[in-house]
Parts: sequence; structure tokens; C-alpha cells
Amino acid sequence: MSRTEWSRSGLSAAQVLPLVVLLAVAAAPLVVSEFSVTLMNYIGLASLVALGCSLLTGVGGLTSFGQAAFVGVGAYTTAVLTTQYEWSPWLTLPVALVLAIVIALLLAAITLRLSGHFLPVGTIAWGISLYYLFANVAGLGGQTGITGVPPLTLGEHVLNSGREFYYLIWICVVIAVISVRNLLDSRPGRAIRALRAGGAMAESCGVDTGHYRVVIFVYAAVLACVSGWLYAHLIRFVNPSPFSLNLSIEYLFMAVVGGASHVWGAVVGATVLTVLKQWLQDLLPRLIHSSGNYETIVFGMLMVLLLQRARSGLMPLIARVLPIDRKVQVPAVLADATGSAVTPLAQRVRPAAGESLLEVREVVKRFGGLIAVNRVSFEMQTGEILGLIGPNGAGKSTMFNLITGVLEPSSGQVWLRGERIDRLASRRIAERGIARTFQHVQIRPLMSVIENVAIGAHLRRGGSVVGAALRLDRETERALLAEAQRQLIRVGLGDQMFNQAGSLSLGAQRLLEVARALCADPMLLLLDEPAAGLRYQEKRALADLLRGLRDEGVSVLLVEHDMDFVMTLVDRLVVMQFGEKIASGNPAQVQSDPAVIEAYLGGIE
Ligand code: ADP
Ligand code: MG
Repeated sequence: MSRTEWSRSGLSAAQVLPLVVLLAVAAAPLVVSEFSVTLMNYIGLASLVALGCSLLTGVGGLTSFGQAAFVGVGAYTTAVLTTQYEWSPWLTLPVALVLAIVIALLLAAITLRLSGHFLPVGTIAWGISLYYLFANVAGLGGQTGITGVPPLTLGEHVLNSGREFYYLIWICVVIAVISVRNLLDSRPGRAIRALRAGGAMAESCGVDTGHYRVVIFVYAAVLACVSGWLYAHLIRFVNPSPFSLNLSIEYLFMAVVGGASHVWGAVVGATVLTVLKQWLQDLLPRLIHSSGNYETIVFGMLMVLLLQRARSGLMPLIARVLPIDRKVQVPAVLADATGSAVTPLAQRVRPAAGESLLEVREVVKRFGGLIAVNRVSFEMQTGEILGLIGPNGAGKSTMFNLITGVLEPSSGQVWLRGERIDRLASRRIAERGIARTFQHVQIRPLMSVIENVAIGAHLRRGGSVVGAALRLDRETERALLAEAQRQLIRVGLGDQMFNQAGSLSLGAQRLLEVARALCADPMLLLLDEPAAGLRYQEKRALADLLRGLRDEGVSVLLVEHDMDFVMTLVDRLVVMQFGEKIASGNPAQVQSDPAVIEAYLGGIE
């Protein structure tokens, strides 16, 4: 689609649909029964929590089984302060939020370092602990709870009907959904969406992944806390049971049912499960002729079915029948970005050509008994293209990981322009101007090409999460996307910017990674087999691009198996075999080196 087309297109069905839904939601309490209003209130309250779960688990890949506890924090804080200390309910909300944030930060410090299955288990542990805290701390009323929570008031007006509360709840839901959508569509949002790819890619772009894990954890806690605060004033009574592990699992289930592909998924999940639960609680006891929480069993079975049949939740299925645009949305800010109004991103001052840039000294990397890199040393000057070649398993990618801080050397040192960098975190090394691509491409397949590439520019602008949620970041966003666009055009992917990254050919995905690395404005570019999967013409274009970068003062360290490509491009070569450096020099020297011929051809008589 051309630029003029997307700036001209009027209201599409995809834009009208949310308006229609919004109107229906606004009109609902005027026409439906009191019972339905109650149900919709519960759906709204659950949506808030499920939205947090969706952000945390669906988008960020962190599974929490403890979100109901944060709902409890919101509910109990206001219940205690309003009944025992006679605070106004509106004043208890900030207190509850601060408390939830503090608890979330504490728990994040303990649990978010856990990886794999330990994280969900950790969240179960504190989820249960907080539940028992609600049940057992003096002053919280034990299992009977706290009664007499006052209603909310707006001036003189008392919100004591479900219908009035309905609007308050759903305004909160709409604000929450929009804030999360804004956040995801921003610089910090792309960092958050990159978390799932595993840390290495995001960190190599300078993203502090630990920080963003905490951010989404706190965000989810805040949403849950607001839900709890509303709940306490709707029901006007709190006891521990709605904040138990069971409920946490239900919230997580709602997020899974809705799916993370769309922010409204959480609302869909909350609706489906709340209605289903209500219906099953009515139906099952009549069918089985005894009472009990049988719906839990049905939920469990549905969960298994869903995980087998529709892993990305119901939203993609719903989207298929609705007039929702399946094309990746063109970021609206980009329409202005190509105009003259954008301040381009600041560029790094590049060192002068011929200056010493990188020095690898006697580096060793052991993996258990295997020595993947064995006392390798080499140097690179500014404005040089250095090839790192060697048979498979020689230790080339490991060397990349040692230089970029993904791995720490077992011994030896890496220096960048007179500074030792081998003990620095990956993102610190990115800050200093080293960008890289990966042998096994690391992209977010469901994000658009341009958004993937913009992750590379993460460090070139700042901006807070709150600013992003409030849409105060549009100038930054324009600048970042314009830069991503510029680099995409440069690597020859200009016409694929708005496709899903996963739909690109493998060769194009490698070029995407090159564009992403270029977005960081690097002084040293590390490319791990960038030409694999490219056609002849594309390889030539890539070689021209790399020569152009060299002329601009960007140095390139290149791992590549295509010898024609390498030999005509590089200034010098380092050859590795079985973890050791066996030769170095210019292409002619290396090609005639007996050790190299031996390594590549197994020796020729
Ligand atoms: P190259 O990129 O030159 O093909 P690699 O650096 O990927 O080689 O691998 C060098 C050696 O180190 C191989 O034997 C590989 O199996 C091993 N290796 C690489 N990464 C790891 C790891 N994380 N754990 C254990 N062994 C590894
Ligand atoms: Mg490799």
C-alpha cells in the first residue's frame, strides 16, 4: 500500500466495529435485567485482571498464578481503611495502588529472576501466602471478612445500584485496554513484546529485559488492584475466598482463552468464562443432583482442549469472522514520519579510520569438558571488514557471543577502544556501539517487519512506560519508525515493511536482522552468516551495502560460509578450527595457507 493510500483511507469496518461494540456496551444497562447487569459487572472486573494476565503471560511470556492476590490487596486495603479508619473510598485507591506496587516490586525481586517452570511455581507460592495473610491477619476479619464497606459517592450522589456501578467499571476497563494498547504500540511496548523471544535478542538491542519484566508485572498488579478496589465497593463486603489460587487460575485461563494477539482478547476471555461459569453452576448441580464446584472440572477439560486446538486463544477465531483488518496495521505516525517534521535520531560519533577498535586477547570458552574457543586473539581496526571463517563447530558463533556479552569468557579478555568489555552485560555492550545478527534468526514472527526493526533503535531515544501508555511519545515514535523504515529500504526490504516478519523468507529475515542491527547506529557490526538463504543478486546487494557501511566508518565482523562472497568482500580474515585460530591475514594469504587448506579440504595430496 502506498503512503497516500493509507493516509487517505476513511473509516474502515475495522474502525467502526469497536464503536458499535462501545455503543452496545453503553446502552446495555438501560435494556437488560438487573441480573445481567450484575453479570456484566463481574465480567468487567474480571477483564481488568485478565488484561494484566494477558500482558504478563500472553505478551511477556511470564506465567503468574498469583494475580487474585493483588485483587485482594485492592479490596482489603479499601475495606480496612474505610471501615476501621473511616477514610473516604476515593482516598484509599492511591494507597491501595502504592501498596500493590510495593508488594509487586518485592515479589518481582524474589520471583522474576526465576526462570522456566520455577517462575509459575514461585507465583503459586506467594499467591497462596497472600491468601492466608488475608484469612489470618488480625483486623482483616478472618474467614468471615469485613462487612459494612461504604459505597462510592460522586459528590452527593451515592453509587449504590449495579447499573450505576456498571459505567464506572466499564470506563475503567476501556481506559485499561486503551492504555495497554498504547503501551504495546510504542518503544517500551516493542521491548516488552520482544521478551518472549528469549533475552538474547532484546538485550543485544540494548533492552533491559529484567526492567521490562518488572514493568509488566507491576502493570498487571495495578490492574488487578483496581479491580479489587472496585469489587469491594460494589459488593460492600470482602472475605478471602475470591482471592484464592482458584481464582488466579481462572484469570489466567481468561487470558489464555482470549489470547494475546489482541488487547480486547482479555475482555472476550473474561466474558466467555464468566458466563460459562454462571451457566455451569446452574446446570451441573441439576444434572449431577449434588452441589459442588463441578465447573472447575469442566474448565480444566476446556483448558486442555484449548491448548491443543487453539493455542492463541479465541480472538484469532473471532477475528476470522469479523471485519477486522488482518493486515498488519500501518503505524499512523509513520505517515508524518516521512515528511520533514521528524527530528532524525542523533548519530554516534564514529572513531577515525585505522584506530584500534576491538581486541580479543587469549579468549577461552569452555562448555563443561568442551573447549569451544581456545586462546583466540585478534584485533580489528575501525573501517575494516574482517571475516571470521572456519568449518562448522569451529567456535565462530561462540566468539560472537563472547564479544557481545551473551557469554562470559572462561578466561581471556575483550577490549573495545581501550575499555574492557568482557564482564559487561549484553545491553551495556550494545550501548557502546556493537550490534549483531544471529545465526538462528531471532525475530518476533507475529510483529510487523518494521516493528521488529525498530527494536534495534531502542537505545536511541528514551521515554517512560507511563508516557507511552498516555500516548505522549508520538514524536519519539515517528523518529524511531522513520529510522526503521530508512534501514529497511537500505537493506532492500522497503516493500515488505508492513508484512508480518514471520511471513518473510529466511534470507529476508536475515536482512531484517541486518536492518535491526543498523538501527542501533553501530560502530561495529557482527553478522553471523548473513548471506545464507540469499540469492546471487541479493548477496551482491548485501556486499555493496557492507562496503558502503565500511566507507561510512562502520566496521564489520563477518561469519560466512560462502567463500566467493567472503573473499571478495573482506579486508582480512581470521580462520578458526576446533576452537583455535589456525590462520589470519588477507584473503590471498589465507587461501594459500596449508593449515587452512587442510581444515577445509581435509588435506590435498
Ligand atoms: P560455529 O559457529 O563455528 O559453527 P559454535 O560456536 O556454534 O560453532 O560452536 C562451537 C562448539 O561449541 C560446538 O561444538 C558447539 O556444539 C559448542 N557449543 C556452542 N554453544 C554451546 C552451549 N551453549 N553449550 C554447550 N556447547 C556449546
Ligand atoms: Mg555458527
